[in-house]
Amino acid sequence: MYEIKVERTAAPKAKPADESKLGFGTIFTDHMLIMNYDKGQGWHSARIVPYGPIPMEPSAMCLHYGQEIFEGLKAYRGDDGGVYLFRPQENFKRLNASCERMCIPPLDEELLLESLKQLVELDRDWIPHAKDSSLYIRPFIIATEPKLGVKPSDSYLYMVLLSPSGPYYPTGLDPVKIYVEQSYVRAVRGGIGMAKTGGNYAASLKAQDEAHGQNYSQVLWLDGVERKYIEEVGAMNMFFVIGDEVVTPALSGSILPGITRKSVLELLRSWGLNAVERRLSIDEVVEAYRSGKLAEAFGTGTAAVISPVGELKYDSLVMTIGGGRIGPVSQRLYDTLTAIQWGRAEDPFGWRVRVC
Ligand SMILES: *Cc1c(COP(=O)(O)O)cnc(C)c1O
Repeated sequence: MYEIKVERTAAPKAKPADESKLGFGTIFTDHMLIMNYDKGQGWHSARIVPYGPIPMEPSAMCLHYGQEIFEGLKAYRGDDGGVYLFRPQENFKRLNASCERMCIPPLDEELLLESLKQLVELDRDWIPHAKDSSLYIRPFIIATEPKLGVKPSDSYLYMVLLSPSGPYYPTGLDPVKIYVEQSYVRAVRGGIGMAKTGGNYAASLKAQDEAHGQNYSQVLWLDGVERKYIEEVGAMNMFFVIGDEVVTPALSGSILPGITRKSVLELLRSWGLNAVERRLSIDEVVEAYRSGKLAEAFGTGTAAVISPVGELKYDSLVMTIGGGRIGPVSQRLYDTLTAIQWGRAEDPFGWRVRVC
């Protein structure tokens, strides 16, 4: 057992009265987790404290050079009253992989899981009850050394925030419209695309903004070198059902290794489907579309779980996929994953972790 000090709030906040207006990431619970790193001492002083502002030097290195990483997962209120996490060990493994890339000292993954469980249990009444709503969990690390020299920081903060969030699809599983980005790139091999770090998102804002201006919800990124191979979408990995294959781009170093992606691959293979990780060019997708072999396209990520793509635009070609409706593979994946996450189905893979 790890010793985690708990300072309870003296002024609990009112919980949102209308769960239908929750949205995403705007409300925070009563408590947060915090832990320090100092050179010579290592990671220390894990504690739960009331949610609130943190004192920070304006010279803190994260504010200038972007040395920071984050994670995203959810706690689910099960139909049986239990509170569940979905493969949280994978999040903490990836957190350490992001740390490695960004020169942040590694953390004890068992301590991260244990302390997260304690935080979620303490604020469990904040987990929304409405169907398909959840408690979004945001662990993150920032470099705090007050210094303007460019080098890895000597001090860090690890924190976890909890945010009650509404259903991703309030009006049902509507397919999204995305276009293939041809001007901007998000990441290159050898860069930081495989790390969950803010810089990748800063780099994507411009394209995202232009996409919204043209009434598309997101952009599909191509590789940064040849601008030919499919990478991913915003905060989602991509899958294409082409003929008898379900194809997703192989992890090349410039793509974020999604936990939903990994789970989808494992599910598809358990169903006996031909799930393939390989390079996939946009030309091949266009070709498959033209020959009638492109049956489905969908994104995968913690927020949406499965996000069917109903329209994909490349240059002047507008491809309508699956008649603009969700396809059978996407639907089965969505139903299976969400049933496991909310404790509505058996969990043959042991993905669910019970908090309380
Ligand atoms: C978080 C993220 C994903 C999805 O990962 P999940 O673990 O499935 O939530 C995909 N792409 C990017 C860039 C991300 O940051």
